[in-house]
Amino acid sequence: MADLRVICLVNGMFAENCYVVADVNSSRAVLIDPGEDAQLFLRTIDEENLQLEAIWLTHAHIDHIMGVADVVEATGVDIYLHPADRPLYDGIEQQGAWMGLRSSKPPPPDRDIVVGETLSVGDLNFGVRLVPGHSPGSVALVGHGVAFVGDALFQGSVGRVDLPGGDGATLLNSIESELLTLPDETVVYSGHGAETTIGVERRTNPFLTGAASIV
Ligand SMILES: [Zn+2]
Ligand SMILES: [Zn+2]
Repeated sequence: MADLRVICLVNGMFAENCYVVADVNSSRAVLIDPGEDAQLFLRTIDEENLQLEAIWLTHAHIDHIMGVADVVEATGVDIYLHPADRPLYDGIEQQGAWMGLRSSKPPPPDRDIVVGETLSVGDLNFGVRLVPGHSPGSVALVGHGVAFVGDALFQGSVGRVDLPGGDGATLLNSIESELLTLPDETVVYSGHGAETTIGVERRTNPFLTGAASIV
């Protein structure tokens, strides 16, 4: 029986959530969205005696990828990204100029994330769902009763859609078809803010109940 451990590392000026996802039995782990504070991520992997195997990116906004270059330099692990977010990824310096941030350019992704495939670490397996709208290549990684959703869905809110490649109707459709179809008890790990569940968001998220408009 696979045993999942999730460590949330809130970091950087956008309070981004980087997740360490570990298979407890084998101590193999991945980093989802290594944002600004690469030293925090590397120190945590080290302190927890984990074997880092890959970087999985939910999307390529700068606050989620700033740490990629340093983590790869220290560990040599492969980078996974959906190709529709490749222009954002390659434009990290331009994103930095919009946000008032400077970031070293990460090496190119090693692997395209393919919708419908399974990403594995140790005995853990996560299915890939495409959830565009916040960015064109946003993905959700779903398995073991949890969903890593990037900036598509937050506790009580949804992702912003005013950045290049964003679209409100597309985001709502993604959430409804790819996330709200998950069981209510599914734990949602977002790119910012606290964890929640699909059921709580279905019942109370104003953007999903119709109480608030996305644009
Ligand atoms: Zn984002
Ligand atoms: Zn973000």
